[in-house]
Amino acid sequence: MNQILPTSIVGSLPKPSWLAQPETLWAPWRLQGDELVEGKQDALRIVVKEQSDRGIDIVSDGEQTRQHFVTTFIEHLDGVDFEQRATVRIRDRYDASVPTVVGDVRRSKPIFVDDARFLRQQTDQPIKWALPGPMTMIDTLYDGHYASREKLAWEFATILNQEARDLEAAGVDIIQFDEPAFNVYFDEMKDWGVATLERATAGLRAETAVHICYGYGIKANTDWKATLGSEWRQYEESFPLLQQSSIDIISLECHNSRVPIDLVGLVRGKKVMLGAIDVASEKVETPEEVAATLRNALQFVDEDKLLPSTNCGMAPFSRDLALAKLSSLSAGARIVREELSPATQTLNLNSTTSPSAIT
Ligand SMILES: [Zn+2]
Repeated sequence: MNQILPTSIVGSLPKPSWLAQPETLWAPWRLQGDELVEGKQDALRIVVKEQSDRGIDIVSDGEQTRQHFVTTFIEHLDGVDFEQRATVRIRDRYDASVPTVVGDVRRSKPIFVDDARFLRQQTDQPIKWALPGPMTMIDTLYDGHYASREKLAWEFATILNQEARDLEAAGVDIIQFDEPAFNVYFDEMKDWGVATLERATAGLRAETAVHICYGYGIKANTDWKATLGSEWRQYEESFPLLQQSSIDIISLECHNSRVPIDLVGLVRGKKVMLGAIDVASEKVETPEEVAATLRNALQFVDEDKLLPSTNCGMAPFSRDLALAKLSSLSAGARIVREELSPATQTLNLNSTTSPSAIT
């Protein structure tokens, strides 16, 4: 990365209406078979171009290749029966019909690797790929086999590590694990949650990230947030452990949240992917609002370790709204970059527009 404050999105972007129902979370596909494969690739081409045009530095697939950030991964594993459904409470917040673990879980073949390779072919920019974390995976399933959340988490960590190594070989620069469950199950997170996450990242040369948030801007999550009081201190539980861990980047929700900004200081030394875009509001942030959030965070994170981002995924938004928010994210980051080191920025600008100008 040749500039400070490289921007990225956390996860999903809206899908085109020909691929899935717009403004609907986890909408079923509108295509099938070969048409679906081609449709996903077309959608991927579009989101790469949209991110690039709007100045996003680290490009991802915007989850165009998956219906759900957890179950699309799980449905490719042996040992999980998607016909046998059970209703469980997700992160203690809402009931959902989920598949059942009926035998030993195993990955018989790579899951997202072809998609990641396709993304790699579309851009020369750094690319990031998201996988679910072990603890969030077990929270999205009914276990009728292992009878131990911890044991199943270790099995998933092994599988995730296999997939992550294949993604790295396909050219992915940053592998992100989504662990919103870290903001809910503190005892398990401390006992084995962070350890299983580290197992999932073992031996990787690619950078690793963990994303912990308060969820999509859906009613179950906004209702839950309303019960959390005037200060959201959940990160205080996980950050000290993550600061000591081998994970490179910590991704958190910040803009318009009640997270005390000084909690960012608990992961001092790590890179911080900071949510400067609210995914629960349809109001587009101004670049100045984004810049204010970033400046605030810079009291607690070094400028070479701050990655401006979104609070979470933007799939429920209209495409125009999501893209407008991307533009504001880039513009806000640009304002702060220029304040921090105008000389460096001039140099970078010259090196991209005319290499000979600085020789
Ligand atoms: Zn999230």
